[in-house]
Amino acid sequence: MPSPKHLTAMADSEILSPGSTIGILGGGQLGRMLALAAAEFGLRVHIYAPEETSPASEVADAATCAAYDDATALTNFAATVDVITYEFENVPGETARILNEHAPVRPSPKALAVSQDRLDEKQFLTSMGIAVAPFIPVDTVDDLTNALKTLGTPAVLKTRRFGYDGKGQVKINHPGEAAAAMEALAGAPAILEAFMPFEKEVSVIIARARDGTVAAYDPGENVHINHILHTTTVPADMDARLANDAIEMATKVAHGLEYVGVMGVEFFVLPPTTDGPRLCVNEFAPRVHNSGHWTSDACVTGQFEQHIRAICNWPLGNPHRHSDALMTNLIGQEAHDWQAHAAQSGRALHLYGKHEARPGRKMGHVTDLHPRRDQ
Ligand code: AMP
Repeated sequence: MPSPKHLTAMADSEILSPGSTIGILGGGQLGRMLALAAAEFGLRVHIYAPEETSPASEVADAATCAAYDDATALTNFAATVDVITYEFENVPGETARILNEHAPVRPSPKALAVSQDRLDEKQFLTSMGIAVAPFIPVDTVDDLTNALKTLGTPAVLKTRRFGYDGKGQVKINHPGEAAAAMEALAGAPAILEAFMPFEKEVSVIIARARDGTVAAYDPGENVHINHILHTTTVPADMDARLANDAIEMATKVAHGLEYVGVMGVEFFVLPPTTDGPRLCVNEFAPRVHNSGHWTSDACVTGQFEQHIRAICNWPLGNPHRHSDALMTNLIGQEAHDWQAHAAQSGRALHLYGKHEARPGRKMGHVTDLHPRRDQ
């Protein structure tokens, strides 16, 4: 049974004490690692997910299995928790709104909404003076044909909503591919982005507390295979000035959204020969992020603990990185090598308890740690 609600209505400035309950929407590995971090502080966790069992519910104090649009189940869930957070960004806006009437939702429904729509996200970033790939909203083949005239090829067509890990996007190499590209996205409202000839991709994991303090981690350099994150290396191979610029841009995003919690901001690093800025933001995720998994092993306070601290109104922890790190995702069958990973000294192994190693499925990750080369 869910634990009784600690406080009837949590005042916005309330600091949640150990014994309080955090509600988490979503049952995946991010929810699991958040629940484990919460347990370290004696906080309880109630998972809400449509699946009967999930990586997160297996380590939580309580679980509700219901659809995200089940208003009764949502209200009952909210009555048992003191604060609500989420581990994926496609939580329906209406769900966040219903929940927010009963318990604070952090990060806020507003931050969630902006991140859910690539057009809103890009317009928000642009309004903050943050560079993004040139973009044009596109609803029809005619729109796309015109947008291709403006942005040229290659270009990337992306659905405005529900895209992740390269899903919901098509690269267009030639204007003649417009109709096929629109069809590939089933005519969903989209944006066309100029193709960015990036040198590398990096991300900044940043936390912001309710009082506006921020804690940013060093940028990590990300390599994707088949659009799925393969490795994150820290420190990223970039000069200190550029790394600072990335942190400053991420800080601007967090303040601009009056954000509470941890977010991941993804960047393209453009070649020095490019006219204009060297860094542009690809997107941000209003949640703990795969490219921040290294922080749990290489920093004083990892991203999961940091998120729990922020949403419970605790002081943020120290994001100081004590080690160099290489995080590698274990995808599908790769997790079968767990014994070899476990035998490596200096390698931290994390497995998500998923029962079936389907191709492309994130099953776990390892982080290799080395003393910092710069100290
Ligand atoms: P996204 O779904 O926006 O995170 O994109 C997934 C991946 O596609 C990124 O990590 C990039 O590797 C690539 N990509 C996305 N947008 C662009 C772009 N405008 N130019 C070049 N590559 C892109």
